[in-house]
Amino acid sequence: MYTTFETLGVTPGDIILEFSYLVAAVFFVIGLKQLSHPDTARQGNRWAAAGMLLAMITTLILHRDGTGSGIQSTNIIIILITIAAASVAGAYIARTVKMTAVPQLVSFFNATGGAASALVALIEFSNPGNESVLVTLLGLFFGSISFSGSMIAYGKLDGKIGDIFAGFMKYLNIFFMIVILTIIVYVMAGDATFEVNRMLVYALLAISLIYGVTFVMPIGGADMPVVISLLNSFTGIAAAMAGFIYNNQAMILGGIFVGSAGTILTVLMCKAMNRSLLNVIVGAFGGGGAAADKEAGDVKEITLSDAAVLLSYSRKVVVIPGYGLAVAQAQHVCNEMAELLEEKGVEVKFAIHPVAGRMPGHMNVLLAEAEVPYDNLVEMDDINPAMPNVDVAVVIGANDVVNPAAFDDPSSPIYGMPIIKAHEAKNVIVMKRGMGKGYAAIENYLFYHDNTRMLFGNAKNTLLDLVNEIKSL
Ligand code: NDP
Repeated sequence: MYTTFETLGVTPGDIILEFSYLVAAVFFVIGLKQLSHPDTARQGNRWAAAGMLLAMITTLILHRDGTGSGIQSTNIIIILITIAAASVAGAYIARTVKMTAVPQLVSFFNATGGAASALVALIEFSNPGNESVLVTLLGLFFGSISFSGSMIAYGKLDGKIGDIFAGFMKYLNIFFMIVILTIIVYVMAGDATFEVNRMLVYALLAISLIYGVTFVMPIGGADMPVVISLLNSFTGIAAAMAGFIYNNQAMILGGIFVGSAGTILTVLMCKAMNRSLLNVIVGAFGGGGAAADKEAGDVKEITLSDAAVLLSYSRKVVVIPGYGLAVAQAQHVCNEMAELLEEKGVEVKFAIHPVAGRMPGHMNVLLAEAEVPYDNLVEMDDINPAMPNVDVAVVIGANDVVNPAAFDDPSSPIYGMPIIKAHEAKNVIVMKRGMGKGYAAIENYLFYHDNTRMLFGNAKNTLLDLVNEIKSL
């Protein structure tokens, strides 16, 4: 007797659906690969979005539940209305958001991903057909932490929430972790009644939500990039868990890609900040303590014309961009200055600190938008040894990432964080509006160094004036 699809209980629709998930996964991989280079990143976004669209359409048309029936037409209508409303809202937000608010928007989107996965787990726990109890509990745990933690990160990046650090929070977080693990083990043991388990699942939801808050709350200024990447990986893990609950290959693969990309980024950010991942998980580091006060001295300013002469007659110039470049939206005029100097025979490089700005890769995105050649971007570890040979380091809206307190002031909250060693250049020009502090809210003694000159003003206006000065030489 021949084995047919029918005898296996599989329809051609099921096969097309599974195949479409495989194609979607291939699209995700192509998208991720292309996202790793500025020239192809936009295209990569389109590939990944096309993969997601394909998986959504085929699921809506071909998905069948355990009884063999497809999605009910009323549910399809609800789903389509929700997708349409969310697409309109998403497109509106993405088009109108200010460039400076993109990091907090990314955190908000991450929070919604976590919330969706946590809700899937919460609803499916009571489903008698659900046999993946551990996966459901883990999905609830990771999704909830990722939701509440990302909302706190959103508030912090938006300046609405400050760092609240109390020594006991470290122990509170350890306590929450023990309670969470106990609940998971107890429910898994299967000794309790369904009602008791359901109560425990609600308790798990509540404690995980609170843990997300107490875990992110104490993370001090300069350490935020690590926690943002970690929350990103949590959302991916939660989505993969939701995929396991539904046995949906596209969700599993998409979640795994996001989770592993987030984990790799977390490791890179830990390296960039010189922190251990264990410290991040326990939420033990980064109190907002201020660096010890020391005699600062006076800052010295430079005129536009002197700055133009100094730059034009240099051999090597390194531009160090920071969050202020994004605030001022000065990336285009910054590139114009670099091109002008290059025409005069000056070698210009852009030194990128991994945590400059307010989201991983922020400076790369900004400079790619301004079409700064990728080859002119140099990583921190590669530029630092060459810094003593640099004639002028031009710090544009950067502060924490060039703060020498990171290695010469053990009392500083950023002590131990690798920085771009601008202070080792022969001359330093710092462009910022005033003496405002950076995200870590600490003093920067680079501004008082003998070889540092300040060029005060909004970075875009300063650069526009500087470009005119260079042209007039
Ligand atoms: P900082 O936040 O340390 O400093 C930015 C500086 O830019 C400020 O001192 C401000 O000084 C200046 N500035 C602001 N607006 C303008 C403007 N319009 N024109 C000119 N200057 C301006 O930035 P960095 O990039 O050096 O460091 C990033 C910090 O953010 C690090 O502490 C990092 O840990 C943290 N962080 C990074 C994240 C990431 O993923 N990359 C996420 C969360 C936090 P003034 O007011 O005087 O102009």
